[in-house]
Amino acid sequence: LVALRNVSKSFPDGERTRSVLDSLSFGVAPGEVVALLGPSGSGKTTALNIACGLLQPDSGDVLISDETLDLSSRSRLAFLRRCYFGILPQHGGLIDEESVASNLALPVRLGQPRLSRGDRHARVLELLKSVDALPATQFTAGTLSGGERQRVLLARALANEPKVLLADEPSSHLDAPASRTVLTLIRRRAEAGMGALIATHDPLVLEHCDRAVEL
Ligand code: ATP
Repeated sequence: LVALRNVSKSFPDGERTRSVLDSLSFGVAPGEVVALLGPSGSGKTTALNIACGLLQPDSGDVLISDETLDLSSRSRLAFLRRCYFGILPQHGGLIDEESVASNLALPVRLGQPRLSRGDRHARVLELLKSVDALPATQFTAGTLSGGERQRVLLARALANEPKVLLADEPSSHLDAPASRTVLTLIRRRAEAGMGALIATHDPLVLEHCDRAVEL
C-alpha cells in the first residue's frame, strides 16, 4: 500500500546538518500492522510524515500501491491525505472546546461530501461505536480521559475509510488496558484489509504488530 525506498532525510542543526533517516526502506501491505520502533528522536514522526507526503525526503522514493509518488503534485498529495491515509497524530488533533460529535463531523464531511446532514450524523455515531466511544458523543473533547481521547482520535483517523493508518505513538500517556483497547481496534481494522504503520517506543505495541522496522 505504501513503501519507502532508500529514503534519507537530514535537518539543519546549527551550523551542521543532522542525518535523521539514512537509506530507510520498508513497506506496509494490506492487512498488515507494522511497528516503526525507535527511541525518542530516532525519526519515527519524520518517517510517517514522509510516507504521507507531508515532508519531502532528501533522497529516495515513496511508493503508493507500487507507483512512485510524484512529490511535486500538490493535488495528488492533498488527495492522498484526504482519501488514502488516516492520520492519528501524536499531539492535538481535536478541538477541545467542541463536542466529540462535531469534532468528527468535519472529517466525515471531507471524506463523503455528498452525505446529507442526517446521514453524516449517523456516520459519526457509527464511527464512535466502532471504537467503543459511543457514550462520549456529546462530551466536550477537552473533558475526555486519555483513553477516550485516543479512541476518538482513532475514529477521526478512520473517518475517510483509509487504506493506510499512520499512528504516531498511539499508546503514549495510556495505561496498559487502554493501550490494548486502541491497538485491538487497529488490529480489527487491519483484519478488514487496512494497513497500519505505528510509530512507537513502547514494547507493548509489538504484541499487536505483524513485524517491526527498527530505526
Ligand atoms: P519522538 O518519539 O520524540 O516523537 P521521533 O522518533 O518521532 O521522536 P522525530 O520527531 O522524527 O523523532 O525527530 C527526529 C529528529 O529530527 C529530532 O532530533 C528532531 O529534533 C529533528 N527534527 C524533526 N523535525 C525537524 C525540523 N523540522 N527541523 C529540524 N529538526 C527536526
